[in-house]
Amino acid sequence: MDSASEKTTSNFIKDIINEDRKNGKHGARVHTRFPPEPNGYLHIGHAKSICLNFGLAKEYGGLCNLRMDDTNPSKEDVEYVDSIMADVRWLGFDWDDRMYYASDYFGKLHEYAIELITMGKAYVCDLNQDEMRQYRGTLKEPGRPSPYRDRSVEENLDLFARMKNGEFPDGSKTLRAKIDMAASFIVMRDPVMYRILRATHHRTGDMWCIYPMYDFTHCLSDALEGITHSICTLEFENNRALYDWFLAALDTPNRPQQIEFARLNLSYTVMSKRKLLQLVKEGRVAGWDDPRMPTIAGMRRRGYTPEAIRDFAERIGVAKADSTVEFSYLEHCVRDDLNRRAHRVMAVLDPLKVVIENYPEDALEELDAENNPENASAGTRKIPFSRTLYVERDDFREDPPKKYHRLSPGAEVRLKSAYIIKCEKVIKDAAGNVVELRCTYDPTTKSGADNSGKKVKGTLHWVSAAHGLTAEARLYNPLFTKENPDDVAEGENFLDAINPQSLETLPGIFIEPSVKGAAPGAIFQFLRHGYFCVDPDSTEARLVFNRTVQLRDSWAKIEKAGGAG
Ligand code: ATP
Ligand code: MG
Repeated sequence: MDSASEKTTSNFIKDIINEDRKNGKHGARVHTRFPPEPNGYLHIGHAKSICLNFGLAKEYGGLCNLRMDDTNPSKEDVEYVDSIMADVRWLGFDWDDRMYYASDYFGKLHEYAIELITMGKAYVCDLNQDEMRQYRGTLKEPGRPSPYRDRSVEENLDLFARMKNGEFPDGSKTLRAKIDMAASFIVMRDPVMYRILRATHHRTGDMWCIYPMYDFTHCLSDALEGITHSICTLEFENNRALYDWFLAALDTPNRPQQIEFARLNLSYTVMSKRKLLQLVKEGRVAGWDDPRMPTIAGMRRRGYTPEAIRDFAERIGVAKADSTVEFSYLEHCVRDDLNRRAHRVMAVLDPLKVVIENYPEDALEELDAENNPENASAGTRKIPFSRTLYVERDDFREDPPKKYHRLSPGAEVRLKSAYIIKCEKVIKDAAGNVVELRCTYDPTTKSGADNSGKKVKGTLHWVSAAHGLTAEARLYNPLFTKENPDDVAEGENFLDAINPQSLETLPGIFIEPSVKGAAPGAIFQFLRHGYFCVDPDSTEARLVFNRTVQLRDSWAKIEKAGGAG
């Protein structure tokens, strides 16, 4: 978090915090937390929440905790805990020694539950899930009290102890808060606090066979950690009443304030962890870090930078109403950042051989090329020029349309950082495919020392055949063909909107030798093509590149083509 470009803007949450600080609420402290459930890898939506929570703490000189919200043992795993920590760190945030687990509080929560039972504010209920739903009522109809609602404190204490001791089968009883079966918020109609579940927890093992529910756990975890502002997404708005009820009933010394904001939705993307898990499990993608995934791990592998993601989070801001952000806006932020940092190199994705007939067979020149025109301090590098080169097949047309400024028979173009060449002859194979161009170069047109007075309109990238490296490039297109993959017709699901062309592999691209030995994660701009980063699948013998993002917005085109990319 060092760049001066990371300006922060005002939002309604800061307004609340400013007001609280003015009034001395929470001793004018700001203490937030990021509370993921370790049941999957983090995605770009989580990144928004991370930037918000850690960002606010930083801005106000406060603290932000990382807390694993691990109350659902059947879906949670240490693999996810580890990935979450790595991703938050990679995004540039630090929780110091404040890494917590809701499961750390199981003992304390159990005591709180007993306290509520003792106060007559919680009871053991024997209704099963279906019955409970029937008793709960609807938005229009009040609920009915459970037949077990008026059990005595003694009976409740005894039954709850026996629940904990494993005397009852899974799902046969619950502990419920005794609030109001006619409350307008359905969450207040005697919500479940504990359920019986024999599942091995990734941290507490088989110590517990009762597990606290989210609503009961979350507010008390916040209170125990001294959180001042508990920021969550809009779907928890109604739960705020319950959040406050638990804290008031238990008279906790610390009363965090829950504040809701709109979650991030991105076009052409699904963001539910359940769906992302399904993509991974069914092998629709190569893993959680597949560069097509909206996960932080996937975006990192694709070459997105933490700076770009933080910038995106800041620019989209926080709002009170749900909306969908265009994926192209995220790409815009990525491009903006990479433009400043990525070295330019030349790579030919679809090679066409060019022989420069008047260039000596055994000659070799090391030409100077600038690494980044946006940043003079990035310096220059040498690129070898020789008689046989590759250019992009798409940069030649035998019958060029009007205003075609690239190669065609008789036409002249500049080779970037090198010379002007002229296409003299086209060589074809037996099937009539163009396999080689015979060209001549003008030695008086060397870049930086051109005194020929010649003007050409096209500049092409190229790679010397004897010096370039072959590499693999993986080009990514949107994973879904529909703007909102979740919006499906009856009988369909989001998987029907998967783009069969989301990955294109080019096994034999040709790239200038300066990239030799580049480490995984290194990012380059391939001139005229886009930004590419070195994939961890690379070996010393063979580089593999992921296309991070194209140079220009490619989405308008996708929409016209009906989504195939
Ligand atoms: P899912 O519905 O995919 O399971 P979740 O919200 O349950 O996601 P959590 O691990 O509980 O996932 O989320 C951790 C934190 O990240 C929560 O505070 C949640 O509000 C926030 N968060 C999750 N998704 C988004 C999103 N799309 N935009 C902003 N914040 C989000
Ligand atoms: Mg959740």
